[in-house]
Amino acid sequence: EHEVRLQKAIADAGVTSRRKAEVLIQQGQVTVNGEIVRELGTKVTTHDHVEVGGVPLMKQRAVTYLFYKPRDVISAVSDDKGRPVVSDFFADKPERVYPIGRLDYDASGLLLVTNDGELANLLMHPKFNVDKTYLAKVEGIPDAAALKQLRQGVTIHGKTTAPAKASLKSSNQVKQTALVYLTIHEGMNHQVKLMLAKVGHPVQKLKRERYAFLDLTGMQPGETRRLNGSEVQQLY
Ligand code: URA
Repeated sequence: EHEVRLQKAIADAGVTSRRKAEVLIQQGQVTVNGEIVRELGTKVTTHDHVEVGGVPLMKQRAVTYLFYKPRDVISAVSDDKGRPVVSDFFADKPERVYPIGRLDYDASGLLLVTNDGELANLLMHPKFNVDKTYLAKVEGIPDAAALKQLRQGVTIHGKTTAPAKASLKSSNQVKQTALVYLTIHEGMNHQVKLMLAKVGHPVQKLKRERYAFLDLTGMQPGETRRLNGSEVQQLY
């Protein structure tokens, strides 16, 4: 990690000259990770949070990652039961990132992970209709009527789900299981599992394959990929 002297970090951020930064440090106006620092030689890295007169030196650059969440990982930054969490996969990244929304513990697939609060708020807002496509392995083989019901809407907790896309990918006549694609844009808790259970086909396995225009092409479970500028712009 690249270390620089505190006064240089302040000057480089464009706050003031290096000489004036030294004065501010000596006056006790500068904090590093919440602590006043008066020592001029203090070294800092991009991981340190520096404030001058109570103003953060620079906003962390906004980054957004695509994450292929494996099964048995909690969609959170910490877990009181000590289970694996999304942040474990971002430990080597300089930014403090958190997942946008959630995938169930036992589900795998595409999760966006960011430190961009504006984007997170936008995408999680119910009015912001992002299509999410799931591939579900279900018990039984949904017939045309079940698929039609999924498309038209089913009632969950007294609410009817919005029109969805539903199709059969494949079926196993011997095992009596099927793979079903379901595309929804709402974000009710456990929505896919509840919808499929409601039409008589409990979910055995669930994977989110697409989120808006993004998919997991070329990625393995546990891998992360930084979104580029134009991908981020398309999400906004
Ligand atoms: N629907 C579910 O049932 N689970 C998820 O993780 C996402 C959507």
